[in-house]
Amino acid sequence: MAEQIYTKRGPVKQNYGWKEELQNRIESAEALLAALPWLPDSPVFRRLYKSADEFVQTTGALASGFRFSVTPYYLALANRFNPFCPILLQVLPQSLELVDPVFARPDPLAEEQHQAVPGLTHRYPDRVLWYLSHNCAVYCRFCMRKRKVSQADSAPTKEQRQLALQYISSNPQIKEVILSGGDPLSLSDSSLNEILAELRAIPHLSSLRIHTRMPVTLPARITTEFGEMLRKHFPVTLVTHFNHAVEITPEAANAVKTLRMNGVLVLNQTVLLKHVNDSLSAQEDLLLGLLRIGVKPYYLHQCDEVRGVSHFRASTETGLQILAGLQGRNPGIAIPKYVLDLPGGGGKIPLENDYRVQDADGDPVYRNFRGHLFKTSGDLE
Ligand SMILES: *Cc1c(COP(=O)(O)O)cnc(C)c1O
Ligand code: SF4
Repeated sequence: MAEQIYTKRGPVKQNYGWKEELQNRIESAEALLAALPWLPDSPVFRRLYKSADEFVQTTGALASGFRFSVTPYYLALANRFNPFCPILLQVLPQSLELVDPVFARPDPLAEEQHQAVPGLTHRYPDRVLWYLSHNCAVYCRFCMRKRKVSQADSAPTKEQRQLALQYISSNPQIKEVILSGGDPLSLSDSSLNEILAELRAIPHLSSLRIHTRMPVTLPARITTEFGEMLRKHFPVTLVTHFNHAVEITPEAANAVKTLRMNGVLVLNQTVLLKHVNDSLSAQEDLLLGLLRIGVKPYYLHQCDEVRGVSHFRASTETGLQILAGLQGRNPGIAIPKYVLDLPGGGGKIPLENDYRVQDADGDPVYRNFRGHLFKTSGDLE
């Protein structure tokens, strides 16, 4: 739970507005070291850097490509004693981002190639992903869109937004629009209200969806007014992005409650991240914690092969083992779909364990979550 809020001016009391919190984000290595005097002596820091100088240099060298920024709220969740603190691991820039030994492509999913108009990725026939903002409250080091997120020149212009709307309204095969970014909740309530109203007026759309990490990184963004605005556009689906149980705080729970009370369907996507959440117990704590605050787990993503991210990637073997461990031992509604977004722009596919196997005669048999085998009479025909 967030006990103390750090700002550029030092610790202050909690519960100030989200705009003030955004203005007080920690945006440089020096500011972070000032906010967390214990950081250089913490086990996670010692594991990642030889010295505080190395940390400052790395963060500086990365700043022009993918900025460093963390909200006081999110930083207050850091654990100084944990060598694998999931909060710090998600926000601390590492030199491996500069020279990735494994992944070479900045855009392995070919999102730029599949842009129908600037900012609008149209990969599946029926859905478009709309890049509305380059800003986020916190920059996640594993971000799959770090080629453009955090960079001012990637921000869509008013004309581009108009073009995107025209494209959506003139293509009736589009059934769903996903507002994404960056974080679309970095836009003002009135801009979002306008966009949602314009989309609502397009008769062939069945679903409006928002992808945002703000309930996790800046829960104060989910104000009563924001909730009431979404209520007017019912039904809206909001997919958020919790990666670890420590992110499930009373503040985050309140944000979700505000959304749910205003009729918003709240789902979660998680990225499988090495040392952060690549164990069965970490996933169970996360998934049950999500149910407890009223969030339905939707996707567990295999980490994309984005340049500068390979140190976060866990194997699909690990992911499938976790999935097998979850099955049958947790409420079915807690279990997400495990997906791989194919490099080259092939789209997402589900990664699944096989519960339909063959016996010695080649007939189908079914394996349950305990590994016991069963036959059905239907297959004997
Ligand atoms: C992930 C993604 C979507 C949404 O996929 P769902 O499986 O419907 O959640 C849409 N467009 C693009 C380009 C995507 O990467
Ligand atoms: S909030 Fe999403 S878009 Fe923004 S840095 Fe994190 S992963 Fe990337």
